[in-house]
Amino acid sequence: MEEQPIPASGKSAGSLPPKPVARLSAFTTEEVERQLGGRTRDIRLNIELSRLLRERTWPQMSKIIRAWMIWVIVLDVLTLCLNAFLLPAGTVMSMLLPASILPPAAVTVAVVFREQRARWLQATVLLVGVFFILVSVALVGVATGGEFYERHLTIMLFVAVTAIVIFPVPLRWAMVIGAYAIGIYLLFQLRNPDIELGSAVAGTLFFASGIGATLVARRTATILAHKTFLLELRDRSRLTDLSDANARLELLARTDPLTGVANRRSMMETLDDCWQEAGNSGGAAILMCDIDDFKCLNDSLGHAEGDRGLVKVAGIIQSSLRDDRDHVARYGGEEFLILLSGAGKHAAYAVAETIRKRVEAASLPNPLSRVMPNITVSIGLATTKRCKSISAEHLQRQADEALYSAKAQGRNQVVAHADSE
Ligand code: GH3
Ligand code: MG
Ligand code: MG
Repeated sequence: MEEQPIPASGKSAGSLPPKPVARLSAFTTEEVERQLGGRTRDIRLNIELSRLLRERTWPQMSKIIRAWMIWVIVLDVLTLCLNAFLLPAGTVMSMLLPASILPPAAVTVAVVFREQRARWLQATVLLVGVFFILVSVALVGVATGGEFYERHLTIMLFVAVTAIVIFPVPLRWAMVIGAYAIGIYLLFQLRNPDIELGSAVAGTLFFASGIGATLVARRTATILAHKTFLLELRDRSRLTDLSDANARLELLARTDPLTGVANRRSMMETLDDCWQEAGNSGGAAILMCDIDDFKCLNDSLGHAEGDRGLVKVAGIIQSSLRDDRDHVARYGGEEFLILLSGAGKHAAYAVAETIRKRVEAASLPNPLSRVMPNITVSIGLATTKRCKSISAEHLQRQADEALYSAKAQGRNQVVAHADSE
């Protein structure tokens, strides 16, 4: 499938687009590698790659085509003005009517190419528009006659060649422009009263070979542009793989490998963020949750069973949180820190009691525990109505003190720090 070339120069040529790019499908990534693995001249973009290329090149294509249209209008008007000074009035008058075909045709194309429209509409408007522009230039010469006749046909071909070279459109569109430019030239030269049939045909063949060579060069440029685009897609896909790997590493660095909840390092950052977000008016609660007589569990059932108990307790805590505002981290061996942003004393107490009750109800074995033959937890809580008035470390210390009291008062209970508000 033929596609438009990416201009060889310009700030976005050959570089990644600045906006975030969509992830390529595995199939597309494979296709990119397959195309790049073959010979450059054999590169053919499939439907998906062509669509991606169109998306990528649309802004340049739109700008270039509109700029070209504006310039042909300016040149058309300038030439007329110049001729008005240099040529007799009658000659200028005969140029006016054919020259007036060009501006509406160019304006129509420029307007249509302001927005990305259906492909067939773009092709039709561009090819018809350029056709009228070329006919307009040719007719100016035909209407004026004499030396202007052939000169304007040559100018018309020059205009067609600039369109073929400059427009970043599919090669097929450029070929159509080349074909009708030659057609217009031949038609009007055959009607040129000043030259013979042989001379008209010879001239047409001469210019046709020039346009043919231009199209061959355009084809090479298109293929090279496709290769550049494929290399860009490969870079893009490698970049996404790399950022995925980084994201996975980042997650690993923040996660406790045994329980899957956040680790202490991650919780320190979360606390910082929470305190910053709370600003002047936000509050927070911290719960320190510690498994009771956990050493007895290791001693009686073994370390592996202890690990299983830790994983289960972590799961129960996580499922008891309110929503995204709450965070849990494994803070030490069998100790979890729970942050409840914006929670008051009652809400925090309710969450803590839910955790305590659910752990007890889970009946996970801890036969030698002094509390009961199951795993239980003690929870110390501390709350503040204004994070601004107390540091995260201080609130955490208060939660620790409350946990110490919970242990001292017989374990398997929730105790709030006296300063909690
Ligand atoms: P208390 O009720 O006072 O908290 O008593 P405790 O036995 O829970 O507390 P202590 O600090 O005496 O013991 C904690 C135990 O937790 C000791 C340590 O071997 C165990 N522990 C720490 N990390 C792990 C772990 O990752 N896996 C297992 N299985 N045990 C751990
Ligand atoms: Mg303990
Ligand atoms: Mg402990």
